[in-house]
Amino acid sequence: MNWYPVELHTHTQHSDGDFSVRALVEAAQRRGFAAIACTDHNTVSGLPELTVEAEQNELVPIPGIEWTTYWGHMLVLGEQGYTDWRGIKPSDIDQAITAIHANHGLVGIAHPLAISSPVKTGYHWEFLVNDWDAVDFMEVWSRDRAPVKVQSYRAMQLWEQLLNRGCHITATSGRDWHREDRLPYAHTYVGTDGMLSTENIFTAIRQGCVCLSTGPLLTMKGRQGNVTLDIGDTAVPGSLEITWALQAETMQQDWDASQIVPEEVHLIHNGEVIYRCSLPDHQPVTLAVSEGWLRADLIGRFYEKERQIIALTNPIFIRSDAEYRLSSRDCCRNRPKSAIH
Ligand SMILES: [Zn+2]
Ligand SMILES: [Zn+2]
Repeated sequence: MNWYPVELHTHTQHSDGDFSVRALVEAAQRRGFAAIACTDHNTVSGLPELTVEAEQNELVPIPGIEWTTYWGHMLVLGEQGYTDWRGIKPSDIDQAITAIHANHGLVGIAHPLAISSPVKTGYHWEFLVNDWDAVDFMEVWSRDRAPVKVQSYRAMQLWEQLLNRGCHITATSGRDWHREDRLPYAHTYVGTDGMLSTENIFTAIRQGCVCLSTGPLLTMKGRQGNVTLDIGDTAVPGSLEITWALQAETMQQDWDASQIVPEEVHLIHNGEVIYRCSLPDHQPVTLAVSEGWLRADLIGRFYEKERQIIALTNPIFIRSDAEYRLSSRDCCRNRPKSAIH
């Protein structure tokens, strides 16, 4: 599995960013990203330029748009076609997501629990989602200093509640990048066995093969018998061996190792910490797991605050349903559909 840093949420002069598309791509290249999205507010006018500039800078382009409405902001990536966001009402969102999926697009909730009115209209997610399982990803971390923001704690809570209800939603971080600055941001890493491509990025996001970090990259693998499980795969209840790895050399020019200091790895099963390990020890651990999900958190100091989540993986899912046991990453929408309404 190869892990690539990608940025899924940016703005240019085509909406309210300071960047030209070229300046955005060059900034992404300087910082070490492998792929860069362009998600301007309610416009796709920057996308032709994104393709050209990304190619010249050897980055993978991720075409997108940020639906910017009174009821919330939604990232739409890779849609082939156009779903009209104008006049949308809170109860229309399930239909809109279905229409975007029919056009092969992905949808992600941007900054779901950011402070809204009177600061900024629509910053807070107020759409009435019935089928949460249809949502492909959610920004649990948004903008700078994400690990220590109240909106992040609340977004993580919402995400875990949805996971506990059986939804398969991928956590991402979003720089919501408008201009160059030196603030500390988190990074989204996508995992793929092959070369990075726009399509592989979308497959990784759909599958949940994604990790987030403000510093070193934390990844994990599972093993049941002779089956190896990557993040986003599905195990069966029972004995599960977990191995994790830290890569401190990732995106090093974009975070300060004196301010972001890992101390422990926690394994979280259905919202509860079931295993803690002080670093640098990282022996594989075998756990008995019931239905649900299991993920890893990297805990440590983030600037002046101790015991923060400074990196996390998306979950390995655990279901007794054998169909998913045999699921493959090649399947584009390999997710257990929940009965959540
Ligand atoms: Zn937004
Ligand atoms: Zn934005």
